Amino acid sequence: MTAPDDIAAVRGVLEPGSPALAAFDYLLAHASAAAFEIADSSHGTIRSVAFRAPSDSRPHFSAIANPRHITFYLLSGLPSAHPALFAAASATFGSVTDNRKGEYRVRRHAPQEIDTLLDFLRTQAVWPSRPHDRRFVRRTFEPVSAAHIRRAAQQLVAGYAEHGFGPSTQYDLLFEGHRLPPKAVFGIAATEALGFPVRPVNFTAGDGESCFRILRENGFPIVSKGEALDSEPAIADDEERAWSEGAQRLVTHLRRERATGLAAEKRDAFRARHGRLYCERCEMDPVRTYGKAGEACIEVHHRETHVADMEAGHRTRLEDLMCLCANCHRVAHRELAGKQIGPG
Ligand SMILES: [Zn+2]
Ligand SMILES: [Zn+2]
Repeated sequence: MTAPDDIAAVRGVLEPGSPALAAFDYLLAHASAAAFEIADSSHGTIRSVAFRAPSDSRPHFSAIANPRHITFYLLSGLPSAHPALFAAASATFGSVTDNRKGEYRVRRHAPQEIDTLLDFLRTQAVWPSRPHDRRFVRRTFEPVSAAHIRRAAQQLVAGYAEHGFGPSTQYDLLFEGHRLPPKAVFGIAATEALGFPVRPVNFTAGDGESCFRILRENGFPIVSKGEALDSEPAIADDEERAWSEGAQRLVTHLRRERATGLAAEKRDAFRARHGRLYCERCEMDPVRTYGKAGEACIEVHHRETHVADMEAGHRTRLEDLMCLCANCHRVAHRELAGKQIGPG
């Protein structure tokens, strides 16, 4: 495996947001899935990566990045083991004219052209073709965020059905009173986050899998089909329970700030804007004090502005939320409970 910085330099040649960049990412996702070692093979201004199978001594494939396409190479070592390969490639994708190096090359402009290419290589038995070789690795899914997941869940609630994922058999993802198939939610979210199609064959869903871990880390609860839907917000401790019994407002408050996925999305947005997480009330920076684990101190609180504006069905927006350290958050809740039930 190569340093992510090297790959970033190769990616940097491709036009941001272009189908060609999606094609490059898609190729890398599939190469990692099939356990190829991906190495930067740039020379001079030519930015390229090479793909080496664990069983091979040198790479058999490479890809050169251009702004609007990638050029994929079948390298010269291949025909000795697969004599008919280049002829078959020429028959499928067209012949290569100036071929001094004895390589075959083909331009690819979009993810669907990567599908055609990989299907060809699998048919020729030079690219791994077991189902497991199509399962994207954990790292591939890193860009999937709470915002992607929430949009995917909203699309499913709105009736979006053309996603290729089946109904769930064992588990449900709970979202705003709906039960959704977790694998479909994740697949739709990942497709948006990664910019290329993520299909059922590309990952498995279940306890201990990246899919469930990422969904849960971003605040989306997953329960077994039989399990009851918990309509109350999670009451974190006895103090909250005591307040909430007398204070409907606090219950509403907790429900708003713990709405599925919003807290993770708020933290992502805050980090993107300020470069770090800190408390908006006392400005405490827990990462400076405790290191990376200190981020756990930063919670998301609903700023209650005009309660009168919040009729039933009011949708919490990110602007309604603020980041508070655990201490300030507890104080804010006590103030809120005090306002509701009066002093004493
Ligand atoms: Zn604070
Ligand atoms: Zn709060």
